[in-house]
Formats: sequence, C-alpha cells, structure tokens
Amino acid sequence: MATATLTIDLGALVRNWRALDAKTNCETAAVIKADGYGLGVDRVAKTLAQAGVRKFFVAATEEGALVRQALGPGPEINIFSGHMRGDTDMISDLELTPMVNSIDQMLRHAESLPGRPFGVQLDSGMNRLGMEPAEWAALRELAEQQGPTLIMSHLACADDPESPMNPQQLGAFRAMTEGLNVPRSLAATGGLLLSKEYHFDLTRPGIGLYGGAPFEGAEAVAHVSIPVIQLRDVEIGETVGYSNTWTAERPSRVATIAAGYADGLPRIMGENISVYHGSTACPVIGRISMDMIGVDITDLGEDPAELDILTEDQTVDMLADAAGTIGYEILTSLGGRYTRRYTS
Ligand SMILES: *Cc1c(COP(=O)(O)O)cnc(C)c1O
Repeated sequence: MATATLTIDLGALVRNWRALDAKTNCETAAVIKADGYGLGVDRVAKTLAQAGVRKFFVAATEEGALVRQALGPGPEINIFSGHMRGDTDMISDLELTPMVNSIDQMLRHAESLPGRPFGVQLDSGMNRLGMEPAEWAALRELAEQQGPTLIMSHLACADDPESPMNPQQLGAFRAMTEGLNVPRSLAATGGLLLSKEYHFDLTRPGIGLYGGAPFEGAEAVAHVSIPVIQLRDVEIGETVGYSNTWTAERPSRVATIAAGYADGLPRIMGENISVYHGSTACPVIGRISMDMIGVDITDLGEDPAELDILTEDQTVDMLADAAGTIGYEILTSLGGRYTRRYTS
C-alpha cells in the first residue's frame, strides 16, 4: 500500500475539549468547519456530541447538513455564513441556525422562516463578517422581537494576548450588546485563553480541540505515518530529487516515502523538517515532490517500513513554522488521499 495513514486520536480530541471547557464557567461549543479542521467531520462531530457538546459551529449551510446527518436531531448546529440565498430549505428541513450577518440576511430569515431560530453576528472591528454598529442600531429592535438564540462576534488578534485590539473589540462588543437579554459569544480558542472577561455565555474553540496553537496544553490529535516505497544506497557526489538540491557528502542510505505536497505537506518545508522512526529524527533531503519525499536514513541503522511526519515530536505547529504558515492551514490541507484511522 502506497498511501500514508492519518491517525486521528479521538480520545485526545475529547480531552482537549474538556481541558478548554474546564477553563470557563460558561458553555463550550465546538467549531467543526472545513471537515472538522480536515480530520473528518462525521467522526469528530459524533465523538464530541457523545462527550457532551451540545452546540456546534460550521462555516456553510452545506457543512451544517453533513453535521445534522451525522448527529441526528438535537444538537444545535450554527452557521457562521448566515442565511444565504438558496439556503432556506436546508436551514428549515435540517433545523440549522444561521448567524445572520447583515440587514439583508435578517430580512430574508424573518420573511422566509419567521419564528425559526437564528443568531446575530456583529462586527466588533475585524471587518470580516457581521453587522456594523450603525446597521445593528437600525435592526436591533426587529432582531430582538424575533428572539435570537445568540449574539456573537469574533476577535482578530486573540492569539496575541498583548494586542490592544483585544480590549478594543471587547469594549465594542459590550457596547453593542448591553441591555439585551440574549446569550453572547465572543471567544474562539485564543479568546478563551485570554481571560474570563472574554467568555460571556458561550465559547467557540476550534483549533485548540485539534491540538493546535495557541492552546499550549493541547494534546496532539493528528498523526501521519508514511510508507517507505523504496530504499537505495547512494555514493558521495550523487544527488537526490528534483533540481539536484541535495548531494551526498558520504555514502548514504536513502528512503523514498509515499506522500508529498499533494497530501498537504508543503514543498516549501523542504529540508527544514525531519521524519521520525520512533523518536529518532531522519532528515528530509532534496525537494518534496507531489507524491514522494526523500529521507536520509544512514544513521538509523535499519530499514524502516514507514516513517512518521506528524508526531508528538514534530507537531502541526512545527510543520506550520517550517512552511511559514499556521497549524490551521496544515490540518485543513491534509486532503483526501490518506487512509484515515480513528483511535479512542
Ligand atoms: C473559525 C472560527 C472559530 C474557531 O476559531 P479557532 O481559532 O480555531 O478556535 C470561532 N469563531 C469564528 C467566527 C470562526 O470563524
């Protein structure tokens, strides 16, 4: 078999959710957009629901439909992109809760599904999604009459506890929601870790559940193991891979392993990363190809059947650093070619 294995530790996922929940005195939801941050939304949703999560968030109504299929009736499934044209039937039939983010969406919802649940998304300064203060002022009374389930906003800089943007957005959110008798939510993983002031009635962690920064205490959830396709000995002066970027400086044993940038392992990580046999690091050599990576196993002293690239030693954030990106992008880019294994 020449496909890599993505092992997802559902036990670690639950422990991460519990550890984050324990930091709050309010309810803790779970954000499972983008196929559960690339790890498989069906299993992720079911596992978290079993562990006691009652509220879920996804980006799009279509994602919400998959979650409803997985969970059946009961848990609340909230849609960040709100009530888009064409979504009405799905929202109604599958009992999804759109977070309306504009006057247009508010009116669409009130007209097409009067009395059906919705939340309100406010812009507290990020300028991405949500109603601005003036829009909200114009709509607040209508929205209140309709009885929203939640009023939410999102922090732009919560991964940096020192950023003045955090208290600024906190103040803006408070000013826009004061005097309303509706549950409020401002914090994702970063905001949850800032302080209780940011928690309000509901927190919405995503990345921390899946083992990524800024949740320092997170357990690794995703592990990637890649089969060795071929082994060879190369002489001093021979090169490995595209563009001859690596030249043997000693007689070397080289393993070719079966994953590459088409599996979400960015080419730019190149020689800044290792792969692991147990806890022994083996250097990646030459260019990462679409489906293959070269590895120097000279010092290993044995021929491994597979090598690990995402491990306790080389975390998703370390791969992200090597690629000049963030753990979120590594996880959500892993893609469909892996054999997925779930452990508990
Ligand atoms: C993605 C997202 C979250 C979760 O963010 P994390 O940083 O992954 O915890 C929460 N709220 C909104 C609006 C989001 O878009």
